[in-house]
Order: sequence, then C-alpha cells, then structure tokens
Amino acid sequence: QKKALIIGAGIAGIATAIRLAVKGYQVEVYEANSYPGGKLSQFSQDGYRFDAGPSLFTMPQYVDELFKLAGKEPSQYFRYQKLDEICRYFYEDGTRLTAYADADRFASEVSEKTKELSTSVERYLKNSALIYKITNHVFLERSLHLLKTYLRWDTFKSILRFGKIDPFRTMHQANQSYFKDVRMVQLFDRYATYNGSNPYQAPATLNVIPHLEQHFGAYFPEGGMYSITDSLVKLAGLLGVKFHYDTRVDEIVLNEKAVKGIKIKNEVVETDMVISNMDVWFTYHHLLKKSPQLKPQKILSQERSSSALIFYWGIKKQFKQLDLHNIFFSADYKAEFDAIWQDKSIYHDPTVYLNISSKYQNDDAPKGCENWFVMINVPANIGQDWDALIATARKNILAKLSRLLGEDISGLIVDESILDPRSIESRTSSYQGSLYGTSSNNQFAAFLRHANKSSKIKGLYFCGGSVHPGGGIPLCLLSAKIVSEMVG
Ligand code: FAD
Repeated sequence: QKKALIIGAGIAGIATAIRLAVKGYQVEVYEANSYPGGKLSQFSQDGYRFDAGPSLFTMPQYVDELFKLAGKEPSQYFRYQKLDEICRYFYEDGTRLTAYADADRFASEVSEKTKELSTSVERYLKNSALIYKITNHVFLERSLHLLKTYLRWDTFKSILRFGKIDPFRTMHQANQSYFKDVRMVQLFDRYATYNGSNPYQAPATLNVIPHLEQHFGAYFPEGGMYSITDSLVKLAGLLGVKFHYDTRVDEIVLNEKAVKGIKIKNEVVETDMVISNMDVWFTYHHLLKKSPQLKPQKILSQERSSSALIFYWGIKKQFKQLDLHNIFFSADYKAEFDAIWQDKSIYHDPTVYLNISSKYQNDDAPKGCENWFVMINVPANIGQDWDALIATARKNILAKLSRLLGEDISGLIVDESILDPRSIESRTSSYQGSLYGTSSNNQFAAFLRHANKSSKIKGLYFCGGSVHPGGGIPLCLLSAKIVSEMVG
C-alpha cells in the first residue's frame, strides 16, 4: 500500500488525508497541537463556547463532497442551515442595513436605506457572477502550475475574456464606478478583507467574492464552525487515517533532491511522499533549513495577508438588534486601511466585526447571555508593541460598540480571552500571524502563490491557506483536491 505523511491537521491537511485515504493510500497525519483544526478550532470557558478562528461558512458543498467521495451521506455526519440574513451593518452616521441572502430583498433594502437604486446592486452582483464564471475553473479549481491547465479549452476561453475580470483597477475604484453612495462602496470594499487584503490595492477581480456569499449563500453549521473540523476528523478516522497529536515535525529529511522521511525529535519516519499543511514559509525555514538552496526566494518574500485581533467576550445580556454576523464600520475606511498597510498599526476607529454563534446555537452561552467574538483586522506581526496596541484597541472598540448600541458594553463582560497576531503565529505556525497566507494586493498574487507541489524536491507537496489557491476554508478545501489529484 502506498503511504502518505501529512504535516499538520489544519482543515486542508484533514481534507487531503480523506481524499488520499479514499484513493487507497495509508495516511498518517502529524499535528503539533493536542487538537485538530489549526485555525478552525474551538474552546470553552465558564459556560461559553467559542469558535477560535473562522466564523463565516460559505461553499458547504466542498465539505459535503468529502463525505460523498467516501460513500457516506453528508447529512448523517454534518448539518448546516442557510442564513436568511447574511450580515447586519451599522454605520457611524446611524444607518442600519441588513444584507439579506435573497438578492432582490437585499437590493430593496439598499434602495430604502441609501441613495442607491436597487438596479445598481443587481448590476453589481451580475458583474460579480461573471467574474466567477470566468475565473472559477482556472484560478480556483486547478493548479496554475501545470501545463495541462493551460491546454484546456475552458482555460483558453477564460484567457480571452481576461479583461472582463477587471484586473487593472482596484476593488475600490471599481466599486466607486458602480455606486455613488459611500456606504455601499464601503460595504463592497469590505470583501477584500475576506482574504486579508486591502481594497485600495487589491485588483477588482476580487469583486467575485460577494457572488460566493450572495449566490451560493452563507451558512451556519449545527454545533458551530468547529463541527466542520470535528466531522471531517471523524470521517478520516473511519477511513483509517491515523492522527498523531502533540507531535511536531522538526525536519523533512532529503536524499539529494528527494523526500526520504520526516524527523520528529531524533526519530526518522521513512516515506517518499510528504504533504505539508504547515505554512509554506515555515516549511522551508524550519523543516528544510539544511537546504537553503532549494528555497523559492521570490515566492516566500510575497507580502503576507493581514492578521486579526480578537476578543472573546462572555456577555451577560442578549441584544435583539444583533444577529449572527454584525459589522460596525469605521467612519473613514481609507484611513483605517492606511493604518494597517502603511503604518502597520491599528486605526483608532477600527471596523469591528461581531459574531455571536449563540444566536443560532443556544447552548453556546448560558441562558440570557451571548458569546461575543469581536474581531478587527490588524497588520501581520512584524514585532509591533502588541500589548500597547491591544490595550488602546480594546478601549476604542468598547467605546465604538457602546456608542452604536446605546449601552455601556464594558460592564456586561463577564469573561474574556484574547487572540492576537503573536498567538495566531505561535499556535498555528502561520508566518507573521497572517490569516490567509499571502495577500492579494496586486494582480499577480494568484500566480505568485506557492504551487501545490515542489518543483525542486521530489515527493514534496503542499496544501492549505498559504499555497495555491489561497486562504479561507473553501480555498483550503480546494487545495486538498488539487494536491490529491497531483499525487495520482
Ligand atoms: P491551519 O489552520 O493553518 O493549520 C495548520 C496546522 O499545521 C496547525 O494545526 C499547526 O499546528 C500544524 N503544524 C504547523 N507546523 C507543524 C509541524 N512542524 N508539525 C506538526 N504540525 C504542524 N476562513 C473562512 O473561510 N471564513 C472565515 O470567517 C475565516 N475567519 C478567520 C478568522 C480568524 C481569526 C482566522 C485565524 C482565520 C480565519 N479564516 C477564515 C481563515 C481560515 O481559518 C484558514 O484559511 C484555514 O483554516 C487554514 O487552514 P490550513 O489547512 O491552511 O491550516
């Protein structure tokens, strides 16, 4: 039986393990932490349960696909519901806007609450759908690093329509051409943060993201986001995948330019195939540090995506005006992104994302209470004075939420944990604590992500958010698909 070793039980590592096990491989997964999921993990304290990282679930079909591949009925293992309301938006000028899943309802909400016509929204979403149609097969579902991708007819057709995907202006410029009302420009600019980028730099091609959310929908998994990890680990177990927790891989052992095994402490486990789900930067800098000549310098020097600062608050009250996903916008988005990307700091009036899973999963908080996941985008970790930045940000966030909700929030917090770029980096070995691998702040980013296979080291493959096609759960699951097709 062919053997595959996977480094890391992040969501892409687990999905790759499932796919290879279905193909008949004997698969073992080595995970440094005592738990699976990497960024997609959970914790509980004092009666509150929190999903530690991702909170927005899109494209559930990629999870279902894994169960089907293994001959199982997905709903017996993993259930989710489609959200009617995708997000509630709060603006400093007092505007409150709900993004409904139903596109027509959303368009009428926009025309009622802003100066835009519903037809502007319809036109915008149509363009977003077109970008998806052109890019989907080429940029997301296949390797960009195999000749055969370029020899396909649909790739050729997509290349001919390249201009239509709007790569030569920024998201913000494109959004301004669709909307006059600054609130709508801001709403659609925000989608750049779905992969940790800057709307004032990222190509307008990323305006494809609203289509994923609006057309395919946003979902809530029964049991919370962690049930994605949990159900897939169970599926992998049923397929015979062996997980080794608390087992950090220290080195990928080579014989010339071919994989010979992995080293854990002083023991070598022999294999000729390794799939690294560890951040590609750390894979080269830590696990392959004896072979610096094999390091792809240019690719590893790409700018990283942004990171996050999260306060997990147990709140002793329930708020009717809030839903699962809530956004409290900054008054000056440009200044906020300049602070993050130019100053590498935190803006004094940050856009606050508030996720409350207990709205859908009642037992995530004690009766009458709510579990608040309060997140702001912050720069990747380059050694800033985080303690000072966090203390100031905490004050500003509390003032903002209290102002927009009309109530002193600090007095309602009964429980607190914090995650910041340093702890994201150390807990999941993500270089600079970036959430989504490299940023998409230029039009070549898609081509500059590391491939799912090493071109220099035989038997070395990659999956996960730091390699092609990029970060976020859906793309991580696609990386697993691409890599499992590559290994044959
Ligand atoms: P990771 O989760 O990065 O896990 C890698 C694993 O490898 C870790 O478990 C680590 O311990 C292990 N590892 C590393 N080095 C070693 C070693 N040497 N030996 C053994 N094991 C090792 N995505 C969305 O789709 N929606 C969201 O709403 C969303 N929000 C996010 C919010 C936050 C706060 C964060 C942090 C991320 C968010 N993301 C979101 C992004 C998403 O979480 C990631 O893209 C995805 O989970 C990354 O998965 P991965 O497979 O790359 O592995």
